[in-house]
Amino acid sequence: MKISEILNTDKPYLSFEVFPPKTRSGFESVKAATEEIAKLRPSFMSVTYGAGGGTSKYTLDIAKNIKSLHGVPMLAHLTCVSSTRETVRQRIEDMKNAGIQNVMALRGDIPDEMRDSDRSQWDYRYAAQLVRELKESDGDFCIGGACYPEIHPESANQREDIKRLKEKVDAGCDFLTTQMFFDNNLLYNFLYKIREAGITVPVIPGIMPITNANQVERAVKLSGSFMPQRFKSLVDRFGSDPNAMKQAGIAYATDQIIDLYANGLNNVHVYSMNKPEVAAKIQSNLSDILKK
Ligand code: FAD
Repeated sequence: MKISEILNTDKPYLSFEVFPPKTRSGFESVKAATEEIAKLRPSFMSVTYGAGGGTSKYTLDIAKNIKSLHGVPMLAHLTCVSSTRETVRQRIEDMKNAGIQNVMALRGDIPDEMRDSDRSQWDYRYAAQLVRELKESDGDFCIGGACYPEIHPESANQREDIKRLKEKVDAGCDFLTTQMFFDNNLLYNFLYKIREAGITVPVIPGIMPITNANQVERAVKLSGSFMPQRFKSLVDRFGSDPNAMKQAGIAYATDQIIDLYANGLNNVHVYSMNKPEVAAKIQSNLSDILKK
């Protein structure tokens, strides 16, 4: 099933993101965790793609497994910046042959060793090129793109970032998924601005439940997200007690999700980080709301 069809309804939904193992030895435990998450019957599941494509094979293996065992619609991520055109075309062909209908088209972070190289020699510099390539392929994919309510770190300002986002959407994105954020007002402000800029595709908010104090620093470094005082206080108070922090982090994410539903965003994507118990707890916190 295409994600564009799922997004075309009024009902509140949850979808979950998982990541592939780094090595073959980690495959079975990741497979088991992702299957547990699939049993929750989310609207769809996404599988990330290792930076540089190192774990690309496992992305497809995990996606195929969940799709065939549990029938959950799958969104496979694909990055391009550190790949050749030939490799990317092969990955697109592999996804088509595996029956994957939804692809998240990403540039990927620029690896350190590429930073000073001649960019005119790169096969891909921006995600929009990958979006075009997917669109021109015969895969009939539903294509997603990433967006950044708090601006992509490489962009000079938000106007420039939204201008580039519009180009990416015009290249063929059917929907956008956001970077994590911890203050919903940042998302509402961003939505207002992109709609004004003529970007009309559905936007899926991405919510990261922070379930241990160590995750906070990593999440901020990775995403540059603003941490509201309410969230900082929670980490200060409960960060040293793992169970209490987990409960408080899940409650905070649940609260964000309820507010998003209340404001008309029907599908919320949870960065569930291969943690079935976190995904299940959030889902059970929302059980009556999700029945609506
Ligand atoms: P782009 O859309 O190409 O944007 C990158 C930067 O270039 C932006 O600053 C943009 O404004 C600018 N730009 C775009 N076009 C132009 C142009 N023509 N001229 C000048 N500037 C331009 N990474 C992974 O490795 N694997 C994953 O699975 C993964 N999943 C993700 C999922 C989501 C929802 C998000 C939000 C991010 C994900 N990432 C993933 C991280 C992502 O790869 C990085 O944030 C990366 O730095 C940017 O990727 P992008 O697709 O947004 O790039």
